[in-house]
Amino acid sequence: MPRLHKYVSRDAHYVLTSIDGQVNTYQLTPAGEGKLAAAGIVAGQNFERAILLDLYRTGDAFARGGEFAEAVLANQLEMDFAHDPHPESAFPTCDDCRSVADLHLTLIGRATEVAARLLCPGCRATPANIADTSVPVSLLTRPLLSRLFELKSVGAKADNVLRYEALLDAAFALRWDAVRKQRSKSQAALFSDGELGGLDL
Ligand SMILES: [Zn+2]
Repeated sequence: MPRLHKYVSRDAHYVLTSIDGQVNTYQLTPAGEGKLAAAGIVAGQNFERAILLDLYRTGDAFARGGEFAEAVLANQLEMDFAHDPHPESAFPTCDDCRSVADLHLTLIGRATEVAARLLCPGCRATPANIADTSVPVSLLTRPLLSRLFELKSVGAKADNVLRYEALLDAAFALRWDAVRKQRSKSQAALFSDGELGGLDL
C-alpha cells in the first residue's frame, strides 16, 4: 500500500509504494498534496492504491526516479503486503525494464507499423527506441491520447500503454469518497469517548 511521507528538509510530501518488488517514489504537485490532505491522509499513513493511481492519472503524482535509502525501503516493502483491492500491477511501468521513472509515451515505427510503448529515460536513449513522438505521461489526457493514436495510426499498444489507457478511463471518485468517509468516521470515534467533554463539537 502506498504510504505518505514528509520530507525532512522541507514542507512537502512524497509517496512510497512497492511495485514488482521495487520501492518507488512518487512526488506530488501542490494540488496532489491538497487532495490527500482534504481526504484526511497525513504523513506516516498508508492509503489505498486507487488514490495514488488517481493522482498519477491526473498528473498530480509523478515519478522522477530513485531517491531513497535502503532502510526506508525495507520497511515499505513489509507494509505493502497488506491487502489492497487494486493490484500493484495497475501502475504503469517501462515496457522494457519495468522502471516507473519519468515515463514517456513513445511512438516508434512508420506508416502502418507504429507501435506505442511507455519507456523510461534509459530505454528511450537506446538506438532501437528512437521515437518520432515522445510525450511525458503526466501531460497526457484521455482525449489527447486518443487523438495521438488516431493521428499516428498506432497499430500496436504495449502492455503498459494499455495499462495507462485503463487508468485514464478509470473512475476513482468513489474511492476518494470512501476514504474521506472512513477517515472522518475514525476521527469521530476518536473523539466520542468523552475526553473532549464540554466542548461543543
Ligand atoms: Zn526502461
